[in-house]
Amino acid sequence: MKSSFQLQHQFQQSNTQYRGRFAPSPSGPLHFGSLVAALGSYLQAKSQNGLWFVRIEDIDKPREVPGSVDTILDGLQRFGLFWDQDPNTTSEQQYRQCLVQSSRQERYQHIFDQLKKHNHLYTCHCTRKGIKKLGGIYLGQCRDKNHEFDQHAVRLKQHFEHGQFEDLLQGHIEVDKHLVNEDYIIKRTGGLFAYQLVVVIDDIDQGITEVVRGADIMELTPRQINLFNLIGVTPPSYLHLPLIVSEDGKKLSKQNHAPALNCDDPIPELIKALTCLGLPTENTTWLSSSSVTEIIEWAIKNWDIKHIPTQLDILI
Ligand SMILES: [Zn+2]
Repeated sequence: MKSSFQLQHQFQQSNTQYRGRFAPSPSGPLHFGSLVAALGSYLQAKSQNGLWFVRIEDIDKPREVPGSVDTILDGLQRFGLFWDQDPNTTSEQQYRQCLVQSSRQERYQHIFDQLKKHNHLYTCHCTRKGIKKLGGIYLGQCRDKNHEFDQHAVRLKQHFEHGQFEDLLQGHIEVDKHLVNEDYIIKRTGGLFAYQLVVVIDDIDQGITEVVRGADIMELTPRQINLFNLIGVTPPSYLHLPLIVSEDGKKLSKQNHAPALNCDDPIPELIKALTCLGLPTENTTWLSSSSVTEIIEWAIKNWDIKHIPTQLDILI
C-alpha cells in the first residue's frame, strides 16, 4: 500500500530563490565533462540570480583520491566558478564552504530509521552475480522474507508506477518500467549509504529547486522523484545536459581516465565548454583575449537553455 510520511525537516527554506548545485565526487581531478556540467548548472543558477552550491559527494570513501577535493575546488575557481555558502548547513558539515556528505552520516541514518519504521525497507541476501544471472534487474526476491537488519544490503520498496518526468531540456522522458519499479539498494553490504538515498536527502536539506547535471543520471531520476514524494517533499525540477563523450563513445569520466583540465590555461577549454552548451562563441574572437571573469559575465548574460543541444551526448 502506498504510504508517505512527513519528515521533520532539518532546514527550513526561507524563500523560493533559485538554488542549484554541482556535486562532484572526489575520485580525481576535474575533466572536460565535469567542467561542462559545472558550467551548465552555474550559468542556469546565475542567469536567474540564484544561489549555486558545490557539494562534495564523498560518501564512497574507499574510492576517494587523496587531495582531489582541493584539486577540484581550486580548478572550479580557476574557471571562474565561485560557489555560494549555504546558510542552512552548519560549519561542521562544510569544507571550504561546501557541503560534505561524509559529515552527514547521522542525518542519513535518521532518515533511514524513519523509512525503516514505516516499513519501506528490507534486507536482501541476493548476490550481484545471482541478480545478473536472472537478467540484471532485481525482482524483489527478498521482499517478504523478513531477513534481520544486519550487515547485508538494504532495499527500498517501490510503491510508485512513475517512470516519467518532464525534463526542462530533454522534454518528456519515460524510463523503463522495470528499472523504475526495481527495489533498489539504499544501504550497501557493509553499511555504506547508497548514492540514491543521500543525493535526495542532500537536495532536500539544501532546498535545491533545480538539478542541472549530465544525462547519464537521467534514467535514475524517476527513482529520486519517487523518493522525494515518499518523504513528502516536492521534488526539484530537472535539466539533463548532453554528456561529453570521447571518440570511442565512452563518457568522459574519471573512471575512463579522462585527461585532467589544464587549470593554468583555462580560457581555451572554457570557451570550448561554452560552445558545447550552445553559447554563441563563433564570431567572438575577443573572447580568447578576455579574462575568465569577463567570459563568465558574458556567458551569464547570453545563457539561454533553448540553445543547449538536446542530443544526449556530444563527441569531442
Ligand atoms: Zn534479495
